[in-house]
Amino acid sequence: MTVKRVYTFGNGKAEGKSEMRNLLGGKGANLAEMNLIGVPVPPGFTITTEVCTEYNEVGRDATVDLLKKEVEDAIKNIEELTGTSFGSKENPLLVSVRSGARASMPGMMDTVLNLGLNDDSVIGIAKKSGNERFAWDSYRRFVQMYGDVVLGMKPTSKEEIDPFEEIMEEVKERKGVELDTDLDVNDLKELVTLFKKAVKEQTNRDFPESAWEQLWGSVMAVFDSWNNDRAILYRRMENIPDEWGTAVNVQAMVFGNMGENSATGVAFTRDAATGENAFNGEYLINAQGEDVVAGVRTPQQITKAGSLSWAKLQGISEEDRASMYPSLEEAMPEVYNQLNDVQEKLEGHYKDMQDLEFTVQDGKLWLLQTRNGKRTGAAMVKIAMDMHREGILDDKTALLRIEPNKLDELLHPVFDADAMKSAKVLAKGLPASPGAATGQVIFFADEATKYDNTILVRIETSPEDLEGMMSAQGILTARGGMTSHAAVVARGMGKCCVSGAGALKIDYKARTLTVDGKVFNEGDWISLNGSTGDVYEGKVETRKPELDEDFRSIMAFADKYTKMTVRTNADTPSDAQTAREFGAQGIGLCRTEHMFFEGERIKAVREMILSSDEKGRRDALAKLLPYQREDFEGILEAMEGYGVTIRLLDPPLHEFVPHTEEAQKDMAKEMGISLEEVKSKVADLSEFNPMLGHRGCRLGNTYPEITEMQARAIIEAALNLKAKGVVTKPEIMVPLIGTVQELKLQKEIIDNVAKSVFEERGETVEYMVGTMIEIPRAALTANEVAEVAEFFSFGTNDLTQMTFGYSRDDANKFLPIYIEKGILKTDPFQVLDQVGVGQLVRMGTEKGRSTNPELKVGICGEHGGEPSSVEFCNSVGMNYVSCSPFRVPIARVAAAQANLR
Ligand code: ADP
Ligand code: MG
Ligand code: MG
Repeated sequence: MTVKRVYTFGNGKAEGKSEMRNLLGGKGANLAEMNLIGVPVPPGFTITTEVCTEYNEVGRDATVDLLKKEVEDAIKNIEELTGTSFGSKENPLLVSVRSGARASMPGMMDTVLNLGLNDDSVIGIAKKSGNERFAWDSYRRFVQMYGDVVLGMKPTSKEEIDPFEEIMEEVKERKGVELDTDLDVNDLKELVTLFKKAVKEQTNRDFPESAWEQLWGSVMAVFDSWNNDRAILYRRMENIPDEWGTAVNVQAMVFGNMGENSATGVAFTRDAATGENAFNGEYLINAQGEDVVAGVRTPQQITKAGSLSWAKLQGISEEDRASMYPSLEEAMPEVYNQLNDVQEKLEGHYKDMQDLEFTVQDGKLWLLQTRNGKRTGAAMVKIAMDMHREGILDDKTALLRIEPNKLDELLHPVFDADAMKSAKVLAKGLPASPGAATGQVIFFADEATKYDNTILVRIETSPEDLEGMMSAQGILTARGGMTSHAAVVARGMGKCCVSGAGALKIDYKARTLTVDGKVFNEGDWISLNGSTGDVYEGKVETRKPELDEDFRSIMAFADKYTKMTVRTNADTPSDAQTAREFGAQGIGLCRTEHMFFEGERIKAVREMILSSDEKGRRDALAKLLPYQREDFEGILEAMEGYGVTIRLLDPPLHEFVPHTEEAQKDMAKEMGISLEEVKSKVADLSEFNPMLGHRGCRLGNTYPEITEMQARAIIEAALNLKAKGVVTKPEIMVPLIGTVQELKLQKEIIDNVAKSVFEERGETVEYMVGTMIEIPRAALTANEVAEVAEFFSFGTNDLTQMTFGYSRDDANKFLPIYIEKGILKTDPFQVLDQVGVGQLVRMGTEKGRSTNPELKVGICGEHGGEPSSVEFCNSVGMNYVSCSPFRVPIARVAAAQANLR
């Protein structure tokens, strides 16, 4: 059977459908689907994502051979539907060639519009449309886009200027006009000549006149754009696999640049920033394609309500608004009504907020794209719950609509109301992406890490700025609307953004920002409120956010549908409290060593380390006991009623002694010994591979008195709380075991201590003894280990380190390069390596339960709050995952979703 590589759509028919997004890309699948549900879409066809993979293997010529017949047939189909002819002089078919991957990658790849134009057909188009200016405007756009995208003339660094933009600026300046719409036919003709001259100069080739040559060139360029730097970076950020490839959509052009009765725009069925159920968007009359988002002209609002509030924010009078920037609702009421019907239809069909692209050609509406719109975390929660209330989504579907990682945005600080009162508003822009951000001004995206907290200030942003936008605290632009690049990308990232603050004068060269005569330099502090569009001078204090009813409903669904519980990693009562407020049910990892550093304690710890015999160590440990007991009481009480896993001392002792001479002198003085003695002890403790050295249960097995003291502190704390009527469930965890014998000896010590404390007090409490599984050998022999352990907690940080043999502390030297080269897909310290490390986890769990069916199993590495890893833990059958307090809501949703999928 021959492989089908091309899928056509048009006139209410389509060979594809929305379920085929893996093969057709999101854009292609939805163009097909829109045809099927009766939305007006210009006819065209989609070349599958599989061809992109083939192209990367066999190259250009072989790919053309593979596609030729199907593409020629598909072009014929468009010709029939449109009554035009590809390559004809008098009645040419013009098409767009568009990228479109499985996952939406807005603006990352390339598109060519108006393809099929040449020196002859431009005259044909002019005659046919009776609009010479339109024909030449389309032609100059085509030459420019083809030059940039196919002939590689697009600048690659921020120093270079797009040669076409430069020419355009020259011509505009010479004519004394500001907007491209002010150029007349002769100017546009001149532009085409100059553009082509630039092409010849830079590429040594004439601009191709043949429509077919143009088409194949563009198709291959779109395939190539899958591997441009922006696209690669975006994939890395969004965890999109490199091997997916992009589809190519070829589609008959419709023209928004045909005059005053034509327009182009983008729209959202709901508010992507707040989630409010309000149709909104922006459009431009007599414009094409990206004009709206590129910020060339000030875009106008779609709805009248939107327009009124926009004008208010911009300080534009009603008179000016109505005459210069009317909404589509006012300017083209019939088209607006059609568009409104279509948006309702699309949202109803996809049951999710849609992001649409449309063009109006001479009064007729066409849809060019629909997709599930990117949104902020707050909007995500509100839209899911609104649709649940509207009866569109049931509990489970509403819950599955939540991207767990995005919840993070809701948990972050907002401006303190009191601080806001005294804050000085510097300028007002559009509330492009909510949140509060305070930072130092920088002007270039690649300098976003110059200070700890930065605000990226740009006239407008472009896809090249992506990485910097990610690192900055907030983004502020002088130009561009709610659908500008900055706004859309910031909302996708959940990053605070104020766009289109027109009062800002930005001088990149001088690195200054001027507002009303007041000059700000790079490094000066400003603050942004992305929910109101306010820009403040200086630092504004922030505070904890309040979580609303919708958030709580989602969390309630999560608890209803989850199998695993979520615990937290917390070392202090206040962390435990925070996590409890976020819904943590217990502590999965309480590290005791953090408690050793404060005040008087470190002195006792050092005394213990310095002692040369057991007696000395015991004396020092006795001083530590009350502190530890008090700490444990605090933590156990904060988690009243839930399990609290307390890990015995883990790090090498070397970490507790000072390493600079200065500090060693202090210590000598404090301990009443000589500097030399301190130095020699420090030297004694130093190890070649401390992470594989004298640490974990190896400490407790060589100095049992340490384990004794810690076990006593835990048991006594629990008894003290019991006396107060507080129910506790301490779980004592032995770290870093590799053989069952290591655990057995530690358990004996713990049980003996417990027994004597119970006798002393005449009272008992329940406790458990278990172990951390973080050495491959422990996982491999889990059946033996589980005969002694009452619970396992997979310490996947160390387990990853030891399975890969990558030092956690040194891996940053090569991991980024490994990821760039594709040796690793993701950082295994962030995303659990299910294939390798995961196998040990699965095996460890199964083997452990084979000898101890009651064995409680959890995870306490960083992975416990990472959604894909949480899903894996669910599939392994863990009882719980444990993560840092702020990731608890994320893990709760991820755990429930894992169970529903
Ligand atoms: P992206 O994926 O970056 O959004 P698109 O392929 O959607 O790129 O195209 C870029 C712009 O060109 C969009 O505004 C789109 O609506 C417009 N466009 C694409 N194809 C056509 C067409 N056939 N007719 C009119 N406008 C088009
Ligand atoms: Mg698009
Ligand atoms: Mg460890």
